[in-house]
Amino acid sequence: MNDSSPRSRALFERAQAVIPGGVNSPVRAFRAVGGTPRFMARAQGAYLWDADGQCYIDYIGSWGPMILGHGHPAVLAAVESAAREALSFGAPTEREVELAEALVALLPGMEQVRLVNSGTEAAMTAIRLARGATGRSYIVKFEGCYHGHADALLVKAGSGLVAGALASGQGASAPAPTSAGVPPEVVQHTLVLPYNDCQALADVFARHGDAIAAVMMEPIAGNMNFVRASREFMAQARALSTQHGALLVIDEVMTGFRVALGGAQSLYARDIPGFAADITVLGKVIGGGMPLAALAAPREIMRHLAPLGPVYQAGTLSGNPVATACGLATLAQISAPGFYEALSARTQRLVDGLRGVAQAAGVPFSADSEGGMFGFFLLDQLPQDYASVMRTDTQAFNRLFHGALDRGVYFAPAFYEAGFVSAAHSDADIDATVAAVAEVLGG
Ligand code: PMP
Repeated sequence: MNDSSPRSRALFERAQAVIPGGVNSPVRAFRAVGGTPRFMARAQGAYLWDADGQCYIDYIGSWGPMILGHGHPAVLAAVESAAREALSFGAPTEREVELAEALVALLPGMEQVRLVNSGTEAAMTAIRLARGATGRSYIVKFEGCYHGHADALLVKAGSGLVAGALASGQGASAPAPTSAGVPPEVVQHTLVLPYNDCQALADVFARHGDAIAAVMMEPIAGNMNFVRASREFMAQARALSTQHGALLVIDEVMTGFRVALGGAQSLYARDIPGFAADITVLGKVIGGGMPLAALAAPREIMRHLAPLGPVYQAGTLSGNPVATACGLATLAQISAPGFYEALSARTQRLVDGLRGVAQAAGVPFSADSEGGMFGFFLLDQLPQDYASVMRTDTQAFNRLFHGALDRGVYFAPAFYEAGFVSAAHSDADIDATVAAVAEVLGG
């Protein structure tokens, strides 16, 4: 760890006096990797500059939204012009309709959309809607999948909750709930199963089938780095949900428009005939960097939402005119022919390069990617579930993270977070990244 970030250090000190832990979202605090979080000052394309003027190649992309890179001219123009019209109306606008139409056109099976401000809100609304529409209480979720911080979903969730579980010695066997402040009664209807465990899923349906409102999952779990749902697991989740009258809620907050234009669902739909979610949860890329998220579903399910139906949901800033402008401008760019092919090739180049230098250095390594999302593990084999991800040598990861950071490469500051490549990353950026990692692993 070098000590070349005096302004970030000073800002972190100041921040800790007035903001709990000095940050507004826990993973930003570098708790898992140690050291001083870099306070960022500006960004352009694939690069970030911190408060000390140091430049980094950005593989976090604001945790996913910045698929075009930072400061894309068409996005900035749309945001500027929208901001001049109005920052917020609290009344319906044409752009909300346009965005809903665009999302419905791109997501198979989805007919209506409700816009909200964060993935948390979208996931929270999705389970309320699933419960309201089915009249049932149980939610099935999977270890290591994070769906935001609604109380009922804070059970064995991934992302920043991993650090808390590790710190308290709970690890993979953390008892539910994973956060203080959530009464046990609030999670008593949340059933948590190992990811990719077909038998456990069959068993839970055999036992509670007629009481399960929803099965909720990340199709590629990006909150335990990068773990794909196997085709069999996804097919079974779909089949059992249908058979028992439960709703399959696919949380594509991270994967939606990140791994493919139709989301991760479109990849499973290639192999599983007729595959579609009952409710799709979206965020990140659809807002292009502004606070915007959504849930989408067939009309038959959405009719239960207020004002049509009895399931309540609302929001002062929902469908915000600047956020929708940003989202629409982003969607227009990523809909261009060849966009995902180019993005996937760039991401693949990174993953292959990292694998190559790890092999050369004799370091256990496995990696995977889809579209502009990737994960790498200091493990010989790609993990299939949370327990396997947790076998990572965290010290080795932390050394790699800090070595890369010192060389101007900004990976996610925790071994359980996914990484993101944007359309603004060049081959030269990728090659410089691989060379930096080679140096860290070789040294
Ligand atoms: N679901 C998934 C799959 C996520 O990755 C996240 C955030 N990383 C959320 C939900 C919550 O979204 P937000 O942080 O916007 O509340």
